[in-house]
Amino acid sequence: MSASILDGRKLAGSIEESLRAEVATFAGVVGRAPRLVVVLVGEMAASASYVKSKADAAARVGIDADVVRVTASTTTQALVTLIHEIASAADRPADGILVQLPLPNHIDTTAVLDAVPADRDVDGFHPENAGLLSQGRPRFIPCTAAGVQRMLLDAGIETAGKHAVIIGRSDIVGKPLALLLASRGPGGDATVTLCHSRSANLPALTRQADILVAAVGRPQMVTAEMVKPGAVVIDVGINRIASEGKPGGRLVGDVDFEAVAPVAGWISPVPGGVGPLTVAMLLSNTLLAAELRLGSRAPRQT
Ligand code: NAD
Repeated sequence: MSASILDGRKLAGSIEESLRAEVATFAGVVGRAPRLVVVLVGEMAASASYVKSKADAAARVGIDADVVRVTASTTTQALVTLIHEIASAADRPADGILVQLPLPNHIDTTAVLDAVPADRDVDGFHPENAGLLSQGRPRFIPCTAAGVQRMLLDAGIETAGKHAVIIGRSDIVGKPLALLLASRGPGGDATVTLCHSRSANLPALTRQADILVAAVGRPQMVTAEMVKPGAVVIDVGINRIASEGKPGGRLVGDVDFEAVAPVAGWISPVPGGVGPLTVAMLLSNTLLAAELRLGSRAPRQT
């Protein structure tokens, strides 16, 4: 048996195609494009590359995206003030504001993220948006979690009544995904186990999974022995490892793809799996933010 591939790049392309039409309709009615402002702090190469992918994707669908660059020596207060200024700029309204993570160690990340007004919080990290998601009435769903659910829905993978095991309990990926998969309705109704660094006997838990999601940040930690034959395996991890002949190394996920693909029923690759969907969901959240701000779309019903 060899797993079917969950092709995130292809799905992201078709999501972008529909968004391009929706953005054009919005711009036609409102007289301007939806606008996203990304705040990039410091010079981390990985962050700069993620921000570039987001800005490029926004441009492809007609969303107006600006990147505001700030030196790594900035302060928490200066960043909070900057976000308030972006949010209150009357001449070019930002529908969505995103602060690229991680921030330098001396910055209070929670204070900075809390400064993004809940109605512009296209990453879905604000406590109000996290609360709405936990109550089953989401507004902005964190992009990676939304991307994983979208991947399952698109492939026609049943989640209702299935056992989903998620490795990683971050506020950004694992926790919101657990809420989504356990929520009522399509792409939900699963029984969810949320594993983390203190979980005892992880392989015994992962082997129970009909749907296994790895969101840890440890290269190739999920081995074939940890996977039930036929399971759906979704790899969120992005790790750069040394590779002979490649000075910059190469990207791998949290799943040992070569070993797990012969055992799994479905598997998402890295790169080309969850990553492109995260970006597509950001674009979708930005359009939603613009529509909600102008009152042209009702909040999601669940
Ligand atoms: P994080 O560091 O905030 O969280 C990691 C989680 O893994 C923690 O909850 C921790 O308890 C758990 N963990 C650590 N070691 C473990 C172990 N040995 N066994 C079980 N659990 C363990 O990371 P994050 O922000 O959630 O990101 C996770 C990975 O996903 C990273 O590789 C990151 O680069 C990647 N990521 C990818 C995308 C994407 O678009 N594809 C988006 C966000 C994050």
